[in-house]
Amino acid sequence: MVEIFRESDGNIALLKTKIIAIIGYGNQGRAQALNLRDSGLDIIIGNIDDDYKKLAIKDGFPVYEIKEAIIKSDISFLLIPDEVIRSVFREEIQNNLKPNSSLVFASGYTIGFKLISPPQNINIILIAPRMIGVGVRENFLNGQGFFSFVAIEQDYTGNAREILLALAKGIGTLKKGAILLSFKQEAELDLFNEQGFGPAFGRVLLSSIYTLIDAGYPPEAVLIEMYMSNEMAYTYKKMADIGLIKQVDFHSQTSQYGAISRGIRFRKLPLKNKMEQILKEIQDGDFTKEWENKITKLKFKLIKYFATKQKINSIEREVRKNLQLKLYDIYEEEPPTKEEMVKLQSISEELNLFRQYYE
Ligand code: NDP
Repeated sequence: MVEIFRESDGNIALLKTKIIAIIGYGNQGRAQALNLRDSGLDIIIGNIDDDYKKLAIKDGFPVYEIKEAIIKSDISFLLIPDEVIRSVFREEIQNNLKPNSSLVFASGYTIGFKLISPPQNINIILIAPRMIGVGVRENFLNGQGFFSFVAIEQDYTGNAREILLALAKGIGTLKKGAILLSFKQEAELDLFNEQGFGPAFGRVLLSSIYTLIDAGYPPEAVLIEMYMSNEMAYTYKKMADIGLIKQVDFHSQTSQYGAISRGIRFRKLPLKNKMEQILKEIQDGDFTKEWENKITKLKFKLIKYFATKQKINSIEREVRKNLQLKLYDIYEEEPPTKEEMVKLQSISEELNLFRQYYE
């Protein structure tokens, strides 16, 4: 049985004498710091010297260098991007953590895939909101809360669970519910959503768009119909609010009959095997190994460049211009340099597949 924690499970008083450092005053950092302070807790910020630091000072927090904030704190939230956690952890955090302190992550990735090895004499806790930072703050202020996945990787003090629940309550997630997983499960679910569902959904969307444009409908009308109207966002919200199937009640009888009767024609899409394969690569750590490989950063630069060359981008650019919508610079993504291309020669066959796919 899955464990789901709620408001009555957390006791914030447990943290009253603790100093809590938020490392990284960005999307999650700012929202979580403000929520914890509003819950009556003693918050300091550790941040590099950038605009976020200025914002933290403006918001009235004591701000220190990352190392200093770690030294001062009993509990530290590591709310910097996953890509930099490893180097920042090695250089500024690892040797400055107090024994018996708690280190809190908002993503299971680095611990779940063993990319860093924190000392044995601390608690390691995960509170991963299923919500962007702005939503974490908004849903704290409006009292609705938000879902989170939580986990304990290391319970050195013997009361890591109570600390986790007190923090989760202070952030505001227990109002909605926090689900107990492991760090690795949280990371796997996140990666699967990005690698399985995301690209498959993208193909379905593009296939619909090209079918309609090839049939002669104006691209402006097609893109509005398919996603630019924001109607899909409302449908998604209704799925969350009242249920995946129940939300069809908001659509007309014609729409419902059409979707259900035609839906059966898509039943044999060969998705399941591909989804299972993607999940297995994530679970076995193959994806992480690939992403952590040096050459992958260069490969990423090139395939991202190919992706910006695909037909939909020029169609969308034209449509946005005609609809007087703001243009974004995805269309001007830089290709790798000649020297970088030489380094990619060993995987040129694989890269050709990407080139052909996106052409
Ligand atoms: P942000 O991209 O907002 O960055 C957070 C802060 O880290 C910023 O102040 C940023 O400053 C700073 N930072 C970047 N690079 C470095 C560095 N090399 N050294 C020190 N500080 C650095 O991060 P998020 O809030 O989006 O993500 C934080 C954590 O929360 C991640 O683990 C993420 O997976 C998790 N998470 C994020 C969600 C989201 O909606 N964004 C949702 C749930 C979890 P600057 O930009 O100036 O470099």
